[in-house]
Amino acid sequence: FFAGPCDFLKGVVALDGLPDADRPEVCFAGRSNVGKSSLINALTGRKGIARASNTPGRTQEINYFALGARGYLVDLPGYGFAEAPIAKVERWQALLRAYLAGRVTLARAFVLIDARHGIKKVDHEIMELLDRSAVSFQCVLTKADKPRGGGLGHVIESVRTDLARHPAAYPEIIVTSSETGDGIPLLRSAIARLMPE
Ligand code: GDP
Repeated sequence: FFAGPCDFLKGVVALDGLPDADRPEVCFAGRSNVGKSSLINALTGRKGIARASNTPGRTQEINYFALGARGYLVDLPGYGFAEAPIAKVERWQALLRAYLAGRVTLARAFVLIDARHGIKKVDHEIMELLDRSAVSFQCVLTKADKPRGGGLGHVIESVRTDLARHPAAYPEIIVTSSETGDGIPLLRSAIARLMPE
């Protein structure tokens, strides 16, 4: 499934720029530096595909990648940028809210959480927005190769507890490392199931 073409399609700054809602899509959300670009690169097996979304000017866009004709991968801008100007943040939040509430073909949101840090306040805010928008979401732990000792187990347990507060959350957590490739096949199959041939 992911062996086929996966190409950067477009960056979207306003709702009227969204591609036609004619196929399923999944989106990826996470705090800046959570490892979102690395994960998308690992998923698609293409180094640098998500670099477009990290180049200055592209960081406030909703970036679309086409998985052949089967569906779209949607890279949402990283949140939690303290230094972004308020007006810009507000514009972006309005676009995000409108996207999440209105995108009928959005099959699932993947919320990326750093396996060293667990769920932070901004992550809860995004999850509350997903709850309110009735978009089912699933947590993906990133950088699972990083925690030492029992650290990973503790973070998984605390994430599990936190997720119980969110009605739109999937109970299953996908634990990944873009560095070692752990969990990448699991995430691929979760996406493939949402995009029937
Ligand atoms: P983004 O801002 O969410 O797109 O994050 P990036 O993908 O650019 O990654 C942020 C930093 O974390 C970079 O220095 C990556 O090399 C590092 N990183 C990303 N994924 C992993 C991982 O699975 N394991 C480790 N050890 N480092 C990672």
